[in-house]
Amino acid sequence: MANPYSKLELWQRIYVNRSLNMERIKSIGFDMDHTLVMYNREAFESLAFCETLKKFIAAGYPVELSDLKFKPNFLIRGLLVDRDRGNVLKVDGHKYVKTAFHGTKKIDRDTRHSLYNGESFKAQDFLSVDTFFALSEVQLFVEIVDYMDLHPNKIRKTYREVYDDLRKFIDLSHADGSIKNIVMSDPSKFVRKDKHLATAIMRLLDAGKTLFLLTNSGWDYTNCMMTYILDNENEDFPSWRDYFEFTIVAAGKPAFFTGSSPFLEVMTDSGLLKSHSGSLARHRVYQSGSASLFQKLAKFHGDEILYVGDHIFGDIMLSKGKLNWRTLLVVEELEHELVQLEVLKPVFAEIQKNIYARESLDEDMQIIRSNLMAVNRHLQNSMRGHDVKKIHHLEKEKDKYTAKLADRTPILEGFDDKINELLQLKESSIQPMWGELMKVGLERSRFAYQVEGFACLYTSRVSNLRFYSPQKVFSSFHDILPHDP
Ligand SMILES: [Mg+2]
Repeated sequence: MANPYSKLELWQRIYVNRSLNMERIKSIGFDMDHTLVMYNREAFESLAFCETLKKFIAAGYPVELSDLKFKPNFLIRGLLVDRDRGNVLKVDGHKYVKTAFHGTKKIDRDTRHSLYNGESFKAQDFLSVDTFFALSEVQLFVEIVDYMDLHPNKIRKTYREVYDDLRKFIDLSHADGSIKNIVMSDPSKFVRKDKHLATAIMRLLDAGKTLFLLTNSGWDYTNCMMTYILDNENEDFPSWRDYFEFTIVAAGKPAFFTGSSPFLEVMTDSGLLKSHSGSLARHRVYQSGSASLFQKLAKFHGDEILYVGDHIFGDIMLSKGKLNWRTLLVVEELEHELVQLEVLKPVFAEIQKNIYARESLDEDMQIIRSNLMAVNRHLQNSMRGHDVKKIHHLEKEKDKYTAKLADRTPILEGFDDKINELLQLKESSIQPMWGELMKVGLERSRFAYQVEGFACLYTSRVSNLRFYSPQKVFSSFHDILPHDP
């Protein structure tokens, strides 16, 4: 029987790390930003970049900084930022730094190796770029690093001090609403509406699942975004709030998953808060709170809840690690990358072909080397016995094997060059600077290891749920060992 999902495009599929029986899931929670609400990333990140830059100028940084332009797609998620050196790094699952940039300039292999690939490398010393919101922040940092290198005396601060300022200005932009007010004034410019989202959510409701919204965004912003994406998308559910049994805003994740704060109730007309105790009322809006209290009040066990989010740390690692919630990670990048990977299939086949050919040649050369070693040993023995005829024969043998090795060495190097060239072609076709999100060359990236360890399921967007039964048993074929048939 053929795989019933093979008719779906690769980016429409849901991928399984850990088996999950949806029949056992009673409640499904959703993060909002970059999960239910998909942003027009270039517009949003460019706005955040420009608004934060204004704060730098206002704080007395050189006015020429306002000439900096946002460059979309320079960075990807999953990178690490070395704030002390002004560098950005892509690391594999073994903490080996495979690509590094200083500002926007690539660091050569030897420098990268001497800086990072010693024994002392600890990923926790660096800032992890986990969210799309962090991309514009780090983009601004690398642009300022370039500026500081070009004009050494204009900013008398270390890279780290500049980053600390940057964080402060981002917080300020959030607090004074300078980014969010612009987004709220015209959501259509910044948000990509998914016309299948309402259908996907309705299928879950029809299957008897209790849905909740759990976001770090505040009430005003949440209401505006959710109204834009869901109001009037289904005639039985005119308001977005009709879909969700509970709505929790300004939740303060990741602390929400580890703390024990009480809930506050949001007066949705005025935005004012009032203290709350006792059970959570249906279709009301709450603020703060904690996951353990939520479970108690909503009467769900941890493993009866599936939480859907895009933040590997804030949404996924803690909810699963601390509370045993089941998790679905939204990896928006797959939408682009899986289409590209499909196109690049012939390149993969070519890489595989060259790897096999190289391995075969390498085995062949090992045998020649062994033969050469044996001849050398025999030759030394024969020299001690002054057996001239034998020495002559062995020297001819030695020349033969040496010539064979000499013939094969450039072919082997040719395979190495070809494999590297094909890998680079593959990586740069997906993203010119950093390559694939989940891979570093032939290895898994650090991000891929985190996804594998903490996300039970992952997919490119929430509406892909509509292709799967809400009672489906998602089976993992992930535990296949290298020796399994
Ligand atoms: Mg989010």
